[in-house]
Amino acid sequence: MSDTTSTIVIENCAIATVDDERREIADGHLVISDRRITAVGEGAAPSEATDKAIRRIDAAGRLATPGLINCHHHLYQWATRGYAQDATLFEWLVALYPVWQHIDDAVVAAAARAGLASLARSGCTTTTDHHYIFPRHAGDLLAVEIDAARAIGVRFHPCRGAMDLGQSAGGLPPDDVVEDRDAILTACAEAIDRHHDPEPGARVRIALAPTSPFSVTGELMAETAELARRRGVRLHTHLAETDDEERFCLERFGVRPLQYLDDLGWLGEDVWLAHCVHLDEAETQRMGATGTGVAHCPTSNGRLGAGIAPVPALLAAGAPVGLGVDGAASNECGELVDELRAAMVLARAARGPRALTARQALEMATRHGARCLGRDDELGHLSVGAMADIALWDLDEVGFAGIADPVAALVFGPTRAVDTLLVGGEVIVQAGELRTADPVTLAAELRRESGRMAEAAPA
Ligand SMILES: [Zn+2]
Repeated sequence: MSDTTSTIVIENCAIATVDDERREIADGHLVISDRRITAVGEGAAPSEATDKAIRRIDAAGRLATPGLINCHHHLYQWATRGYAQDATLFEWLVALYPVWQHIDDAVVAAAARAGLASLARSGCTTTTDHHYIFPRHAGDLLAVEIDAARAIGVRFHPCRGAMDLGQSAGGLPPDDVVEDRDAILTACAEAIDRHHDPEPGARVRIALAPTSPFSVTGELMAETAELARRRGVRLHTHLAETDDEERFCLERFGVRPLQYLDDLGWLGEDVWLAHCVHLDEAETQRMGATGTGVAHCPTSNGRLGAGIAPVPALLAAGAPVGLGVDGAASNECGELVDELRAAMVLARAARGPRALTARQALEMATRHGARCLGRDDELGHLSVGAMADIALWDLDEVGFAGIADPVAALVFGPTRAVDTLLVGGEVIVQAGELRTADPVTLAAELRRESGRMAEAAPA
């Protein structure tokens, strides 16, 4: 690890700053000092920076972008991939709840390390995670995930998820995987006390995240919102993912999913919602008017056949729309850079070639993601004063050679690993290789724990 108080210079690269002016530089430099960006500009770095630099990165042939931000994930699902391959969301959940009921701290540790490593190798510097299954005697699953994020080196916003509406009360999950409401609220408060860092430059911040309208009571939703606002943390949940969910809400609550959340006081700038596939025009406007964020998960929506979210309309309405890989059991992989391409092609498949540009896809994965997580003051753009969370993409290799526009090469071009990744000035990926963990060890751990989960699966 580099000394984070020292100066690092990155030079000779193209730069897509995604800053307030959306500045793009064909050949420029970045200077980092004390974990933050202190200069970004054209040509060579100033000599006062290069003179004192302890590290100079020659990034010729690379594109520098802000580190990508992942707004929705379920890391534990890395241990349960390949199940219910042709199922709807509800069928898939019903098949997997009895498997997930057997997770413990060893499963979550192996899955989180593997999932976070894949995110880092795909250019992600900040990720959230939505963990909502807490079997009794499974260990401290939130702490295990936070340890994994510290080890891999990414910034982490874990969401304390929860389910309190079991089958016997009309919910979708079996009663064995739901928790008592008071126990959930106590655990949420404890998670904030123990792990939430409100300071600038924070590596770990907690959000609260009851899972979905069909697995949580309205009482828990309302009490969680009250707790989050009293403690100054953000709110997250799944919403409007499928037609089945819409039917569930109409039958049980007499309103569509977004109205249900609105009635519970759940829309606002401190809230971001995963999916939002099934929103009508008025609901899209309501998202924008309230500044409620969206975690758009195009690959997962495609894998489960959920539909295509109205991303262009949400952006036009002014809602922040970040990108998410979603859980690995409904994506089957978890490489964030792939979601830029998926978001673009899915929007265009639904609404034509001008529905979403390559630059809009990059903004979603950076600036918009930072807004969803409440970090846009210091994450999601390469500006002086922002955290030095930077991805360098190698556009010299044959897959990209000949594409003159580097942003187009990144978003339209082939799948690739990031070349170099810095989080707060620390280099965690170098020459495409993770420096903080051994991928062979991660794979062996994941195989072992996935095998244990398969043994627990009902025949
Ligand atoms: Zn999800």
